[in-house]
Amino acid sequence: MTQRILIVGGGSAGWLCAAYLAKMFGATKEITLVEAPEIGAIGVGEGSFPSLRATLAALGIPEAEFIREASATFKQGISFHNWVHGDDHYFHPFSMPSQRPGAPELLPYWLQGLAGDTPFAEAVTMQKRVVDAQRAPKRIGDGDYNGPMNYAYHFDAARFAGLLAKHARKLGVRHVQDHVDGVQLGHDGAIASVETREHGALTADLYIDCSGFRALLIGGALGSPFHSVSDILFCDTALAVQVPHPAPDTPIASATISTAHEAGWTWDIGLQERRGIGYVYSSRHTSDERAEQVLRAYAGPAADGLKVRKIPMRVGYREQHWIKNCVAIGLAGGFLEPLEASGIGLVETAVHMLGALFPHNGEMAPLARHFNQFMGERYARIVDFIKLHYCLSQRREQFWTDNCDPASWSDSLRDKLAMWRCRPPQRMDFLTDLDMYPPTSWQYVLYGMGFPKAMPPLPGMEALAAAARQEFANIAAVSERAVADLPDHRAFIAQLCQHE
Ligand code: FAD
Repeated sequence: MTQRILIVGGGSAGWLCAAYLAKMFGATKEITLVEAPEIGAIGVGEGSFPSLRATLAALGIPEAEFIREASATFKQGISFHNWVHGDDHYFHPFSMPSQRPGAPELLPYWLQGLAGDTPFAEAVTMQKRVVDAQRAPKRIGDGDYNGPMNYAYHFDAARFAGLLAKHARKLGVRHVQDHVDGVQLGHDGAIASVETREHGALTADLYIDCSGFRALLIGGALGSPFHSVSDILFCDTALAVQVPHPAPDTPIASATISTAHEAGWTWDIGLQERRGIGYVYSSRHTSDERAEQVLRAYAGPAADGLKVRKIPMRVGYREQHWIKNCVAIGLAGGFLEPLEASGIGLVETAVHMLGALFPHNGEMAPLARHFNQFMGERYARIVDFIKLHYCLSQRREQFWTDNCDPASWSDSLRDKLAMWRCRPPQRMDFLTDLDMYPPTSWQYVLYGMGFPKAMPPLPGMEALAAAARQEFANIAAVSERAVADLPDHRAFIAQLCQHE
């Protein structure tokens, strides 16, 4: 019987896992989390994916409490700057293209030019106009975790982990603050105990490795090979800085701003009191000194004198995430550059899967095989989606031309791009449970970056052309109403923070 769970690591992954399993299983499992306070969590990871709403709701955390305690703001998508030529812009919204009853799917008609010059994302949803007008995605009356726009959040990573810890402890999770010095294996190769400095040996039926890039259990003790994807995704270092807002009423962007530079890209995330800014770059294509210049030039005088933190990134994932009685979740299992905020999303996937398929009877091997296959596939598909952003660029710096060399693309991405040269991406190109990003996200990036518009003539299309034109016009008109109806982003955050 699997009754006792030991989680090693108290970053976002460890505490999310602890809180979720405690909520799901109540007193039927005994959950302990051990973390070394002197090591600390990674402290970055400020942009999330819309799936986090359902996770927070499942944990029973009121949305206003989350916003207040994690210094959170709303994220309605990603605004990409300079990715194509160096002076361009496109938007990846979280809302799906409008699909009203009776109206046709809009993409084929947009490809045929029925929306004129309007970019795809702006023609099919109102979300970009809402973001440009600095509006929140919802109003108070919409209720927790609901709203007319699809949305995720930006948040302070350390405060987020603190909030999850508070909830996990309330749900009965035992918290041990101690340093893990070693791991003992039994004669069957499974983990027998985890050795700590002050509390001696800690034992459990299932061990969850959330020890971050150190991967103490899955890598250190069990030797799961690391599958590097650095031949596909070249960025291996980040420089991060926290820049206070100049005034308490400075507007806060409700989208992540991602700007391409000579050897990578910057994230720019607006929280309540500050912006989190980071430059993710390839150390094979630039030096740390030059990278800091690029970061500081982007951040401007507001960052003068502020400390920049360097974070080496090991990009890839474990070949096996689950071995014997140990499963790795979070950075211990893998990491892909944070371009589309996959980190916490992958933690959520792993935690949901572990909760749903839990080995209650102690029989781990079948579950481990399934988990490993699923997570490996999911990572590989995210790698393709991230690479898509690079390989469609027309920038001429070496970093970008290297990225555009098809030799650095996976076979699956090459196949996808080849198929989409004669018709657009559609649902049957994807496996919903394995793909983190829906087909529409691929469409937003592909057509945002100017991929050739190819659409085979389909019988019957002409009959619905008038309805499609009407729908494009409706979206533009409704956008104006949405901008008028939705509250200002910062004012709404302030209102939520006062909400009990
Ligand atoms: P960590 O936060 O590193 O936590 C590791 C824990 O293990 C700590 O509590 C530490 O004390 C403990 N530990 C380690 N060694 C020992 C030991 N010997 N004994 C006891 N305890 C130990 N994700 C997103 O979703 N969105 C983003 O925008 C995003 N941006 C990122 C930017 C960068 C530059 C990086 C590197 C990551 C980013 N991520 C992002 C990923 C995200 O930060 C992580 O997925 C998430 O924070 C989970 O981290 P973790 O809990 O696995 O590891």
